[in-house]
Amino acid sequence: MNANFSLISLGCARTLVDSEAMVQSIQSVGFTLVAEGTTESITVLNTCSFIQAAIDETESNIERLIDQKNQGHIRYICVVGCYPSRFKPEVLEEKYPQVDLWCTTRDEATLHTRMAKRIFNQKYTPHTTKPYTKISPSHYAYLKISEGCDNWCAFCTIPKIRGTHRSKSIAAIREDAKRQMAMGAKELIIVAEDTTAWGEDIYGTPCLETLLDGLRDLDAWIRLMYIFPARVTPKLIHAIATTPNVIPYIDMPIQHVNTELLSRMNRRHDKAFLENIITDMRAAIPHLALRTTFICGFPGETDDHVHEICDFLDTHTIDHIGCFTYSPEPNTRAYTYGETVPESVRRERVSRIMDHHFRQRGDRQLRRLGETVILLYEGNGCGRSVYEAPDVDNVIRLDIPNPPYQPGDMIAVRLTGVSGIDFIGKPVDA
Ligand code: SF4
Repeated sequence: MNANFSLISLGCARTLVDSEAMVQSIQSVGFTLVAEGTTESITVLNTCSFIQAAIDETESNIERLIDQKNQGHIRYICVVGCYPSRFKPEVLEEKYPQVDLWCTTRDEATLHTRMAKRIFNQKYTPHTTKPYTKISPSHYAYLKISEGCDNWCAFCTIPKIRGTHRSKSIAAIREDAKRQMAMGAKELIIVAEDTTAWGEDIYGTPCLETLLDGLRDLDAWIRLMYIFPARVTPKLIHAIATTPNVIPYIDMPIQHVNTELLSRMNRRHDKAFLENIITDMRAAIPHLALRTTFICGFPGETDDHVHEICDFLDTHTIDHIGCFTYSPEPNTRAYTYGETVPESVRRERVSRIMDHHFRQRGDRQLRRLGETVILLYEGNGCGRSVYEAPDVDNVIRLDIPNPPYQPGDMIAVRLTGVSGIDFIGKPVDA
């Protein structure tokens, strides 16, 4: 049997960061990463399970791997992360006896030694040093600044799955940033369950602004994701506005705008607070691109509440939005609420809000034509400016044949058109 493994990473960018760390530690004990479906004997599946749709995706992947094992294509299956953290081990072992190793998020630091023990048996104690292996593109990198969450939003399973909030030190985050920049990262994307909680366990109060100050000398774009509205302060807005490498982009999932629903969601702020911080952000940060997400069909939501979101979007410009149907999850507070909204109504409300957003967004895009932006080239004729995050937002497509650029190149581009949600652009020196 060879010691090759493949890795499948489900879920969000935060899981991807964990997957990349796992690859390094697994390789350090003698295994070699190969592409999925090639020469691997072992597959490591890093999972997501925060809502039923993610559980379904995880289980269909486990079943697919079991088929591969039964057909002799692979010999071992290791399932890691949120899915084994959410369910009791005895339940999983009975449901999927073909899985060789289960590893929760809290045990990820020992996954590599447990794999070595399980697969090579105890006599095998290799220690190899392999170069850092990136599994995400080299021109940008996600920096995970903390683990866990203490916010206990009423709909969310993550505090139970991922545990209490723990910040990484500035030194550890800088080390991670510098390693990624040495491998070509021009953009560092700050992620966590709640990035604004950073520092609370170290300094006694949340202070993301202190971390931003600690990263201000790095020659890379710093993009902020997963801002929790209730923790936004004037100090933080000032730091985002004045730290030179922090780009004018904020991802702040707000989930809803109605005060009563925000309270039932345990979001710890009301609509007026939300309106004030968005107004303050826009006043302090010129040309800010704001991204948010909404949950549609939370228990108790009415049609009027959906109108309220649309009215909010008319008043406060939100550049990018994602909209999801509410997923009732056992062991959350919201699961016990009455006034459930039928699934078909939830879906219709998502469509209504997205249609509303796209109408406004199309008009805003047309008004920007002629503007020149700096584009971070990603390959295949596409790139992004500071106003677009990877994977979740639109791209800018270059309107020239065979662009002579490499991923990571920075190019001045004039916006010349719109195609779907994307911009079309021409390099100014073309
Ligand atoms: S902030 Fe709320 S939604 Fe986000 S991970 Fe924490 S509990 Fe879940």
